[in-house]
Amino acid sequence: MCIFCKIVNGEIPSNKVYEDDNFLAFYDISGMTKGHTLVIPKKHFDNIFELDDETAAKLFVLVKDLSKKFKEDPEVLGVNIVNNNGEVAGQTVKHIHIHIIPRYKDDNFDLKFEKK
Ligand code: 5GP
Ligand code: ZN
Repeated sequence: MCIFCKIVNGEIPSNKVYEDDNFLAFYDISGMTKGHTLVIPKKHFDNIFELDDETAAKLFVLVKDLSKKFKEDPEVLGVNIVNNNGEVAGQTVKHIHIHIIPRYKDDNFDLKFEKK
């Protein structure tokens, strides 16, 4: 069973941000900024290539809702939403997850598209 499935079934502890019957959001164990959150469907899909339309749609609505919730904090000036699919794209946990990374003034984090 994958590490995020273990988080879903409680075998591995997590700090939960949101939970319903089908989705879970929890803080990333090595968060880049305060509140860095991972949003997942509880059902296992390796990545976006396996996702069905209904789950994809609901997942993104949840990402939008949680982003707006983070934005209620006046210190949160923006968010980065990141989703890596496949090892070559930097996916390290093979259970689809969307990163929400709240952004603050001078937060010492940089997300850039750069050619090697
Ligand atoms: P990826 O590189 O696959 O897009 O992101 C995987 C993320 O999962 C990483 O940011 C990593 O810190 C996080 N992560 C890995 N294992 C755990 C864990 O056991 N608990 C939590 N909360 N996050 C984890
Ligand atoms: Zn899984």
